[in-house]
Amino acid sequence: KKLRSIPKQTFLFGPSPIQFLPRLSKEVSPAGDVKIWAKRDDCNSGLAYGGNKVRKLEFLVADAISKGCDTLVSVGGVQSNHTRAVTAVATASGLKAVTVQEKWVPIDPPLYDKTGNILLSRLMGGDVRLNNEPFHIGHKTATKQAMDDVAQKGGKPYYVPAGASDHELGGLGFTNFVVELAEQENQLGVFFDTLVVCSVTGSSHAGLIVGAVAEGKGRKVIGIDASAKPAETKEQVTRIARATAALLDPELKIPDEAVVLDERFHEGIYGIPGPTTSEAMKLAARTDALITDPVYEGKSMAGMVQLIKEGSIAAGSNVLYVHLGGQPALNAYSSYFEE
Ligand code: PLP
Repeated sequence: KKLRSIPKQTFLFGPSPIQFLPRLSKEVSPAGDVKIWAKRDDCNSGLAYGGNKVRKLEFLVADAISKGCDTLVSVGGVQSNHTRAVTAVATASGLKAVTVQEKWVPIDPPLYDKTGNILLSRLMGGDVRLNNEPFHIGHKTATKQAMDDVAQKGGKPYYVPAGASDHELGGLGFTNFVVELAEQENQLGVFFDTLVVCSVTGSSHAGLIVGAVAEGKGRKVIGIDASAKPAETKEQVTRIARATAALLDPELKIPDEAVVLDERFHEGIYGIPGPTTSEAMKLAARTDALITDPVYEGKSMAGMVQLIKEGSIAAGSNVLYVHLGGQPALNAYSSYFEE
């Protein structure tokens, strides 16, 4: 109830579609005892290809507008989906966007800083500023400078942290996702006992945990780390989940066991696919034409496949792969897929 009372913009088409993946299910679970479905938050919005950030930003942009801000300021890597989404929601709300794009990934494949997400931000008229800072999920000094810069020019900046995560409203989008999911389950007549989600800056994962704990139906949420700094991601997921729960209902407690982050699939570094990621991406693409990216969703796909194969996701399960988006970055990684 509290969640419904918190103002939000409408950037999504409506509930994101849920799809059964018959060929992937058969490939991963040949006996047919685990069924794989996907909730397609990669198709959730018409704003510059959508994705998880657009869902989170419904709440942050409402806050920005209510505070009279005119410019969203945020940060990410060169191929950040998040900064593309910030630019998209700003544009579609009549606001400006300044995005700091850092060297979070120490590679420079052809057209890395010209194609994919960064191209879309430029096309939307975003103010894109490149720098050489490496990856971490915390608050960055360059955004502070960008904020000052906007203010100095007479604008009113609104700060969106990396991934729209470490923000008091950051966990609400994916808490709302669980409310939406429960309504869809009633219509479908299916209960998804296990949700698999990619986790880096943590608020997608955290929001799902809050939603699942609040429902109390025993639904498991398994985060797959793609940050390659799992201790930091897990700490952030836990902190955001607890802060979001406290905001919604002071009685709602998030136990330690609710925060599950599998560390086996980041392949050693943020932003670079290894063989397991590439194989999982090909498997999803070549069975149900489900396209994933090499930075995030390919890693969570690899995680889900392994969890099913090793029996950690039990027979009889209906698993929901929470597809968070990210496909635009694929263009910048073409050199990894030349066969
Ligand atoms: N998947 C995609 C496509 C993303 O862009 C991100 C962003 O970081 C994630 C997963 C991870 O989500 P979060 O940052 O909320 O942990």
